[in-house]
Amino acid sequence: MKTMTCSDLGGPCELAHHGESADDVINARDRHLKEAEKAGDATHGRPATR
Ligand SMILES: [Zn+2]
Repeated sequence: MKTMTCSDLGGPCELAHHGESADDVINARDRHLKEAEKAGDATHGRPATR
């Protein structure tokens, strides 16, 4: 089980994402970004590609 925060993945908040692998964590991050964007959170609107 891996845990990385939104912030660890280049995002603007500290929400923790959990997954079996790095891919799962990144998928969880992508879902989180999309859901936050839908909810009107502009800070999550574009994927961070640092
Ligand atoms: Zn976030």
